[in-house]
Amino acid sequence: MVEMRKPIPVSEAVRLVMDHLHIRGTEMVPLEQTYGRILGQPVVARHDVPSFDRSPYDGFAVRAQDTVGASGDDRIAFDVIGEIGAGYVADRPIGKREAYRIMTGAPIPENADAVVMLEQTVEHTSGFTLRKPFSPGENISFKGEDAKEGELLIEKGALIHPGTIALLATFGYANVEVAKRPTVGILSTGTELLRVDEELVPGKIRNSNGPMIAAQLDRMGIGYQSYGMEADDLDACTEIVEKALAETDILITTGGVSVGDYDYLPAIYERLGAKVLFNKVAMRPGSVTTVAVLGDTLLFGLSGNPSACFTGFELFARPAIIGMMGGTAPYMPRMKAELGEDILKPNPFTRFIRAIWDMTPEGIVVVPAGFNKSNAVSSIARGNCLIVLPSGTRGFVTGTKVDILLLGVEQGASEWFL
Ligand code: AMP
Ligand code: MG
Repeated sequence: MVEMRKPIPVSEAVRLVMDHLHIRGTEMVPLEQTYGRILGQPVVARHDVPSFDRSPYDGFAVRAQDTVGASGDDRIAFDVIGEIGAGYVADRPIGKREAYRIMTGAPIPENADAVVMLEQTVEHTSGFTLRKPFSPGENISFKGEDAKEGELLIEKGALIHPGTIALLATFGYANVEVAKRPTVGILSTGTELLRVDEELVPGKIRNSNGPMIAAQLDRMGIGYQSYGMEADDLDACTEIVEKALAETDILITTGGVSVGDYDYLPAIYERLGAKVLFNKVAMRPGSVTTVAVLGDTLLFGLSGNPSACFTGFELFARPAIIGMMGGTAPYMPRMKAELGEDILKPNPFTRFIRAIWDMTPEGIVVVPAGFNKSNAVSSIARGNCLIVLPSGTRGFVTGTKVDILLLGVEQGASEWFL
């Protein structure tokens, strides 16, 4: 008898996964190895930035009071008493009608309170003249204007990108506390599977899901342990899943989660005593996507169908991995786009369509990326986003605004939108 499964909404499935995350600890990592990691500590300003008043331009540091009354007819002359390059400090304070030649980034000398840009001056005997008054503070980068000592600048759980690294470097964080990355295992199941380097023979296909998931992890900066491929054999599969569970925090399997005669993952979960969070999601592709937990380990049973497998990873595994690291923006970012072609099929379940978005003179337009059944592989290769059509809808015509989820974008969203 075929087991009846009750589909749950995608949002419910996402929530269930996110409610079962085992948060891992943190570790100290040298700054240059932190790109793509998740901050395990907030970034707090260790000092003011800038840490001294400095010049934002190449020019002359003056006292604003000495420029009062300057005009085209009544130019005021200044004596240049020295030069301050970036990295140096003035030897003495300036006095009346005196100026220092100053370079970008150099500290403002004592008594000076304005910087005259080079272009605003005309050379004159031992200095220059200028034709307009300056107000106190004009053209000065003030101490602390960018960040104040003690200020919380970036929250724990943020993704470290090049800008974050610049900030950490500014404050001298040579080592940074980052979230430990989970160990992820990948196992491809299916008697029909061949390795990538094998010749096709009747009835067989090459394993494309294994390498795809490895790359989906790669682009998140997450390493993986490959458990290769296993034929549909209950005992052999149980054994390898058991071994993998002992070695990983997350195990992603592909294939064998459906209700076919050789779909053994449900039986394996049962044998091992894993708690199945759900085994049917009201979505296409990938309605058979199953997630189970055993101890602290999450088991993602993704469909063998390539598009379903891809989508299942992005919707469930990716946010779970980021969530396990305490990441605060684990979801794919969303945008609105205008459909570039009709999608007339009814959507009994939420539909995720591999698609291509582009900016055109008419705005952001999205079109399906070609053959779009759950077993499609070509559309995953072409797509750069997923169109989301809610369940219970139909007849989306060209020009309709739809939601799209962006793929491969570094900065995620903090809320799941559905
Ligand atoms: P399953 O989820 O095991 O019912 O498989 C669904 C479909 O996906 C079948 O047509 C399988 O041949 C195919 N498939 C299963 N595993 C893979 C894989 N690793 N790579 C590519 N296709 C696969
Ligand atoms: Mg199979």
